Amino acid sequence: MSSLTLADVYRARQRLAGRVAPTPLVASASLTERSGVPVYLKLETVQPTGSFKLRGATNALAQLAQEGVRRVVTASTGNHGRALAYAAHALGIEAAVCMSALVPQNKVRAVAALGARIVIAGHSQDDAQIEAQRLVRKEGYAFVPPFDDARVIAGQATIGLEILEALPDAATLIVPLSGGGLFSGVAFAAKAIRPDVTMIGVSMARGAAMHASLAAGKPVPVDELETLADSLGGGIGLDNRHTFAMTRALIDDVVLLDEASIARGIVHAYREERLVVEGAAAVGIAALLDGRIGHIERQADSSDTAGPIVVVLSGANIDMAQHLRIISDN
Ligand SMILES: *Cc1c(COP(=O)(O)O)cnc(C)c1O
Repeated sequence: MSSLTLADVYRARQRLAGRVAPTPLVASASLTERSGVPVYLKLETVQPTGSFKLRGATNALAQLAQEGVRRVVTASTGNHGRALAYAAHALGIEAAVCMSALVPQNKVRAVAALGARIVIAGHSQDDAQIEAQRLVRKEGYAFVPPFDDARVIAGQATIGLEILEALPDAATLIVPLSGGGLFSGVAFAAKAIRPDVTMIGVSMARGAAMHASLAAGKPVPVDELETLADSLGGGIGLDNRHTFAMTRALIDDVVLLDEASIARGIVHAYREERLVVEGAAAVGIAALLDGRIGHIERQADSSDTAGPIVVVLSGANIDMAQHLRIISDN
């Protein structure tokens, strides 16, 4: 298990101050009515790069810049690359971003627009990863991973602090789950402050690497498949050092969703909450709509244990043409 402490999370928040603003936690009338308990949405969709990944990247880069590092590189399916590019620009250092050819064009363009050097390599997250390691060896870049890094996890964990401060009696947190940086960070902070909080991870059924790894008892590879939740794609790394052990220790339940359900989550966010969310961010709403958060119904039946649910909406970076298609088809 990682040696992350709550003090690390508070220090991360100090580094974020003035760079990454706290995000709103808003009540959802429609989800509250359907669930029978108060439901709140944590809006990481309003981050300047469109996702929570700005927190982890900013925390990591602020420390690296302090240590004198001038060039950073990552392999990313989009949102981490965008966050790294933005944070590097803000801190006055250089960023290179390696991506596989499967990454959607809107995400590639967005990273390039932030001034990062784009390196397209291979057809999987693993290929992009290998290219990034080559830049580390040959060109002197410092590697910043998208999730399996204590500084990145501490940055994402500031979401957990904000949630528990805004809503001290939060009973259940529903968090999108891919490599597990978001989940481990939020779960670590939340359970450190409130040990009895229930932590639910949600992934797409198509290529859920953390779920497969938890089932196998060790990190395992999965086939990368196309999914509406493209930000949840990719493996957790066979040499995973932090997020697998942390997720395993902190998770209470994993929910897997099919593509139709993820689409319903996107549509609900748009029609009922007036929010544009990407597929990866819609999974928490979708899990609630599908009645997949089983213990909530049990809680609602015995009102003394019922407590508020917080759904983390992790990002807004969906291709707008795709978003329009999903809204018109559903
Ligand atoms: C990266 C990402 C996730 C998953 O985060 P992990 O730390 O890899 O589990 C969820 N939603 C969005 C929008 C993301 O960009």
